[in-house]
Amino acid sequence: MENCIFCKIASGEIPATTLYEDQDFRVILDLGPASKGHALILPKEHYANIYEIPEELAGKAMILAKKMANVLTRALKCDGFNIVQNNGEPAGQTVFHFHMHLIPRYEGDQVGLTWNPGNLTEEDKEEILSKVKAEF
Ligand code: AMP
Ligand code: ZN
Repeated sequence: MENCIFCKIASGEIPATTLYEDQDFRVILDLGPASKGHALILPKEHYANIYEIPEELAGKAMILAKKMANVLTRALKCDGFNIVQNNGEPAGQTVFHFHMHLIPRYEGDQVGLTWNPGNLTEEDKEEILSKVKAEF
């Protein structure tokens, strides 16, 4: 993909701090970290989002996320860990090349990944259940 910054980073055309690299992925430090050690898993092939990425590669990305969570937690002695993956502008995606955020968490940090819990009504439950079942 021309003009995709993460394609260029993943291929090595644009430099980034690489924590890990293999045939399919590059893991880099985020330039605007939410916390110390915030990293991104980038597939080397361009897929815009979770809808486009093939299942097998998505599976590999999750396995790598698990490995990186272990490594980063040991290395940085963080107290918790978030794995975040945004799809589409309303969901907060700003770079339209699939990526997974690896966010080490520290006791008392101010990383804001919370929401105000709503209410699951009977009506919503029934509607969602029937709509989702129809899509499988
Ligand atoms: P998202 O909002 O989920 O699309 O995440 C995009 C992330 O990419 C943000 O956390 C940015 O800080 C990060 N980012 C954007 N450009 C770069 C870059 N050149 N190197 C490293 N991280 C970047
Ligand atoms: Zn790309």
